[in-house]
Amino acid sequence: MRFLSADWIFPLHIPPVKKGVIEIDSSGYILGLYNNRNEVKPNKIEIYEGYLCPGFVNAHCHLELSHLSNFIKPDKGFINFAKSIKKRNIFSEEKIERSIRLAEDEMKKNGIVAVGDICNTLDTLTQKKKRNLLYYNFIEVFSVKEQYNKDVISSALYMRNKFRDANMKASIVPHAPYSVNPNLLKNVINISDSDNDIITIHIDESFEEKKLFSLKDGEFIDWLKSMEADPLIWEDRSTSSSIIKDFNTHKILSVHNTFSDKSDMGDIYYCTCPRSNIYIENTLPDYSIFNTEKLCVGTDSLSSNFSLSIYEEIMLIKENSNFDLNTLLKISSKNGAEALGFSELGTLESGKKPGINLINKSVVNRIV
Ligand SMILES: [Zn+2]
Repeated sequence: MRFLSADWIFPLHIPPVKKGVIEIDSSGYILGLYNNRNEVKPNKIEIYEGYLCPGFVNAHCHLELSHLSNFIKPDKGFINFAKSIKKRNIFSEEKIERSIRLAEDEMKKNGIVAVGDICNTLDTLTQKKKRNLLYYNFIEVFSVKEQYNKDVISSALYMRNKFRDANMKASIVPHAPYSVNPNLLKNVINISDSDNDIITIHIDESFEEKKLFSLKDGEFIDWLKSMEADPLIWEDRSTSSSIIKDFNTHKILSVHNTFSDKSDMGDIYYCTCPRSNIYIENTLPDYSIFNTEKLCVGTDSLSSNFSLSIYEEIMLIKENSNFDLNTLLKISSKNGAEALGFSELGTLESGKKPGINLINKSVVNRIV
């Protein structure tokens, strides 16, 4: 049994507690929370400078792209980014595997305990089986042409089963409204089963995406036409976010919304990846449009970020919003745990095993 105290405790299911004490067992389960150090024998308390909060949940990452760190130049726009990502396979298997291992290490060091991770391959499976972190695996599909749908779906089902066979959460998800032809989207919805806790999708990541749907004009339409994309992709909708309605019964995590307006928003979970948005498009979302009880945060991958640190992400949100520290920490832990269905994580409630981060002078240390 340990008793941990600091200048402030941020349990997140209740308001912050000044000089509170958390009681944990030897496996890290929370046994209790005390409002006052006097309630515990003084020689038993470990007192830290700074504040304590639950482990962080990185709600959006692409761990398998870690080898593309420093490969794509920042601030060149989304289409340049998407074209560069296509070169992901020119690297050796060793380089890919080592980069995945190092990236996971970095997340662990930065106080991250769980990840919502996009997978187009099985490259991360071996590392994830080590159970260093918890993962929700989103098997992502895309195809702008209908002719590949059968192959895309059968390969996604194969990958989903591989992750599920290893006792991990996995759902098949569409990449984005512009990269999935209407029938592929229908297929994704149809194969969704009761083990699908949540669907995630990239929405309004670039201004050109917005222009595609609202004006049927711009660089995206030229790019899609050059790939002989199914025109129904843009003819059938006038906003990117309208795709959310197609999933009427599912829990959704909409990622980015960098260019979304208040009118695009629904009662779903959102994930912002601010440092990736700066890296690719040099823009941030309007943080006033989000419901902070349902906003999560992600690092995106090392192909569009310099590090995998939830703390650095929320410091950037802090500079660009009016969110207080308790709200920023809910975004970092509680909301992501709820969205991804990790019921033991996210708050310092009795019975949970959330991991505990100590933050002092902007340095994050996972102490439990
Ligand atoms: Zn992404």
